[in-house]
Amino acid sequence: MDTNLPVSAQPRVVIVGCGFGGLRLAKALRHAPVQVVVIDRNNYHNFQPLLYQVATGALEADSIAYPIRKIFAGQPNFFYRMADVQRVDTARNTVHTSVGDIRYDHLVLATGSLTNFFGIESLEKNAMQIKSIPNSLNLRSFIFQNFEKALLTADPAEKQALLNIVVVGGGPTGVEISGSLAEMRKHVLPKDYPELDLRQMKIILVEAGKELLGPMSVKSQQDALRYMQELGVEVRLNTSIKRFENCRAYYSDTEFIPTENLIWAAGVNGAEVPGLPTEVVARNKRITVNAWNQVEGLPNVFAIGDVANMVTEEMPRGLPMLAPVAQQQADLLAKNLQRLLQGQPPEPFVYNNKGVMAIVSRNKAVVDLPGNVHFNGFFGWLTWLFVHLMTLVGFRNKVVAFIDWAFSYFSSDQALRLIIRPFSRRDVKDDQGKKKAEHNTATPEYNPTPPAIQVR
Ligand SMILES: Cc1cc2nc3c(=O)[nH]c(=O)nc-3n(C[C@H](O)[C@H](O)[C@H](O)COP(=O)(O)OP(=O)(O)OC[C@H]3O[C@@H](n4cnc5c(N)ncnc54)[C@H](O)[C@@H]3O)c2cc1C
Repeated sequence: MDTNLPVSAQPRVVIVGCGFGGLRLAKALRHAPVQVVVIDRNNYHNFQPLLYQVATGALEADSIAYPIRKIFAGQPNFFYRMADVQRVDTARNTVHTSVGDIRYDHLVLATGSLTNFFGIESLEKNAMQIKSIPNSLNLRSFIFQNFEKALLTADPAEKQALLNIVVVGGGPTGVEISGSLAEMRKHVLPKDYPELDLRQMKIILVEAGKELLGPMSVKSQQDALRYMQELGVEVRLNTSIKRFENCRAYYSDTEFIPTENLIWAAGVNGAEVPGLPTEVVARNKRITVNAWNQVEGLPNVFAIGDVANMVTEEMPRGLPMLAPVAQQQADLLAKNLQRLLQGQPPEPFVYNNKGVMAIVSRNKAVVDLPGNVHFNGFFGWLTWLFVHLMTLVGFRNKVVAFIDWAFSYFSSDQALRLIIRPFSRRDVKDDQGKKKAEHNTATPEYNPTPPAIQVR
């Protein structure tokens, strides 16, 4: 297949992935004397920090995504191809994609991360994840479908499994989704399901470590735990889910939590692209880079963001997988690519940590700023809202998110609970397009129709 990219006298920079890093880099190269080719399997940029709000019906999916072509309209050196990059051939300076081969002069891998199930097959098959917009919409549909099913069953054990929601992973995503579900249980579900006894619905947050929000300050960890308890979330620390099958989340060989709904937010791996030398791929599938994001031994191949394993003295396990890291690396790489083209030496990357935050529920958030500054509660919540609103891409998205948030704040309601894409785990593809095996559910016949949209 011919990708029909125009021939240019300028060197071609191919960027794989238009997430936080890829988008920022392509924009920063706007006036550079290069041809910029962005490849992404989705034709939109996805604002991942708000995915859990789509999953719990607080935000519309459209308000956290933005069409790539619209972002770059009017950038003359920009070209986009919607494709899956399947392999890199560094000997031929080519990437093999689902729409054909694309040659590069400089290659930047900005492919982000994928959910890490730690090789536990039953979790990979049966757990829900929140890494993409289709995942979040599936999760929303699945939870509401299970409430509809709970109304129909007379079997108390099945009802309990349908109502229980287990969230695995006490990092920001696990905490945020648990808090949001607890709010939904308090404000939304009693109105929609007066026939159900919602005291039966348990939200259980399971964390293998001894605290929530591992990388944050002790103060924020304690605040988050207290907030969770106030919201009625059952927090189980020092607990690992070992398998999930037949609606049972096992935390030992014999002990389990009965649940149909298990949300896996317990870890990610780098979304490495096959074809690179094995020695540059670290254990967590991140690509080892030097101080200017160059892949070791490959002078014209770079990696930024979640997929890049940049080890520093302060961070021997690599820089954190956070949006600001991806964006700051993109900014510097844009400069360094131009320096390299002019024969100048590149500058090393220094991470400017502007702080970390996590929202727990309305009026409750924890914020850690550099210099041991912590704050929480209403002010933390406002800060979180403001930062996330300002970093959303596109004016329309900011307005829609603001209206959705204002509506749910003043009405204590979340309007977005339509089951618009009936979801069956029996015909699902994961984020990489691989077909997942059949889900082993206690009530497999609930949704006999295939899903309307295939999940990529
Ligand atoms: C639920 C959730 C909540 C989060 N909350 C926060 C937060 O509050 N604050 C924060 O700083 N960070 C947060 N993060 C992390 C943050 O989203 C990531 O650090 C950031 O997205 C990394 O940017 P990136 O450019 O490396 O990759 P991404 O933004 O993940 O972008 C990768 C892109 O590459 C594309 N892609 C991948 N592989 C291929 C391929 N083979 N072919 C074609 N295209 C491909 C994908 O479609 C995607 O568009 C959160 C992440 C998640 C999942």
